[in-house]
Amino acid sequence: MGRNRQHSTATSRELRARVIGAGPTGALAALALADAGWIVELRDRLDPSALLARERAYAISQSSRILLQQLGLWAGLRPNLSPFQRLQLEDRAAARHVLFGLDDLPAEAAAIGWILGHRPLMALLLERLSAAASVSLQLGVDGPFESPGPAPDLVLACDGPRSGLRRQARLPWWEHRYGQSCVTATVALSQGHGAPTSGCAWECFRPEGPLAVLPLERGWAQVVWSCGKERAERLTDLSPSAFLDALAAVLPGGLEPEGLRDQPRAFPVGIGLAPRLSRGRMLLVGEAAHRCHPVGGQGLNLCWRDVATIHRLAALARAGRLRAAAIPSRYALRRRLDLLLTLLSTDLLVRLFSNRQPLLLPLRRLALALLRQQSALRRLALAMMELGLPGLLPGRRDLQHHAPAHAASGPAALSAAASGHQRQRLAAGDAAGRP
Ligand SMILES: Cc1cc2nc3c(=O)[nH]c(=O)nc-3n(C[C@H](O)[C@H](O)[C@H](O)COP(=O)(O)OP(=O)(O)OC[C@H]3O[C@@H](n4cnc5c(N)ncnc54)[C@H](O)[C@@H]3O)c2cc1C
Repeated sequence: MGRNRQHSTATSRELRARVIGAGPTGALAALALADAGWIVELRDRLDPSALLARERAYAISQSSRILLQQLGLWAGLRPNLSPFQRLQLEDRAAARHVLFGLDDLPAEAAAIGWILGHRPLMALLLERLSAAASVSLQLGVDGPFESPGPAPDLVLACDGPRSGLRRQARLPWWEHRYGQSCVTATVALSQGHGAPTSGCAWECFRPEGPLAVLPLERGWAQVVWSCGKERAERLTDLSPSAFLDALAAVLPGGLEPEGLRDQPRAFPVGIGLAPRLSRGRMLLVGEAAHRCHPVGGQGLNLCWRDVATIHRLAALARAGRLRAAAIPSRYALRRRLDLLLTLLSTDLLVRLFSNRQPLLLPLRRLALALLRQQSALRRLALAMMELGLPGLLPGRRDLQHHAPAHAASGPAALSAAASGHQRQRLAAGDAAGRP
């Protein structure tokens, strides 16, 4: 704090950022910077219709909900959010399961998580970006990363796992491919005996890879099915009825697939990390900085925790409490442990539970038995999944107790003062994420 006070004259100066990549990370980062009072240029080589066009759905955790509320986006997304209040973890080979419920969350909340489609998410982000006076949108522009005009105080590389900015800055990238692919499909599910399809999400550990069933609206669900690459290719080539038959053989007990909304797609899964997250004024953000296995639905939530950190630091800089030049090193310091812990835990889950190794079965049975018996362990596991490391640290009451971030102090208040934005007041229900 003391060190930052000497830079308090920075408030009088406009602060500028250039964000490269307008995927879910870059688009939200641009809004967060604008919210913090910065002037932002956001660039993507895709035009708006291509940015909207992906067929995928994201699992939204509590850490993402808090950020979306801080940025005044939650209410606009509510009609498209499908909440789930139960999460069932199953280990087929070990014949064990654990059920997580709302009681296992660190504080009162209306849902463990929400499923959100890519299109409504991007539509709202692009609408808000177009309406923001301090954001210059340059979509459908593929050119050099530099542009004429005043040099930005920060450059955010949000250009995805094959980041050109990362390569240009010669920042190293560690990567491991699992030899697995992930097949995603939106399917209609019917409810067999005793298996409710709405309000419950499943993560099933199977020898070929994890299988997640994430509830969408009116009996539809997003299936995220990890398996060997060749099997994934064969699955995506099947006719709709043959695919549904294959899916019926692997779904958790009681669930039956009835229909397919679109052609299933496969994408390769891997784990990747940039050990250095910044160089000079440039920061690696989202999948430009890290990638993980889709198990546990951590990917986008981890990207958005990067954005939450940038939001706080940008607000401090705008308020003159931090030099803009100090943001990259602060960001790297604050994000490193959460990234490492999340990447390692998803990797451990895949290695421990996705194999045909009989010697590991007793360990898996023990882990699941402990989770079943010990509510403190369930709460710890869920807090880690929902909030990441920041939620486990003492002093982060905003995360642990779900207080609305528009409360009188903290970065959101700073940013409100800095930007003078008119933001929606949260209804009482919003604070707990009630849709
Ligand atoms: C095929 C596929 C399917 C997936 N399905 C799911 C799913 O079902 N559920 C889920 O939770 N996650 C899914 N994921 C992961 C999820 O998409 C990522 O976590 C998320 O997209 C990360 O967002 P991002 O903005 O960091 O990166 P990206 O979404 O990759 O965005 C990067 C952006 O940068 C732009 N860009 C790149 N280079 C340049 C350049 N030189 N100049 C300008 N712009 C540039 C790109 O056009 C792109 O818009 C999937 C990933 C893939 C690849």
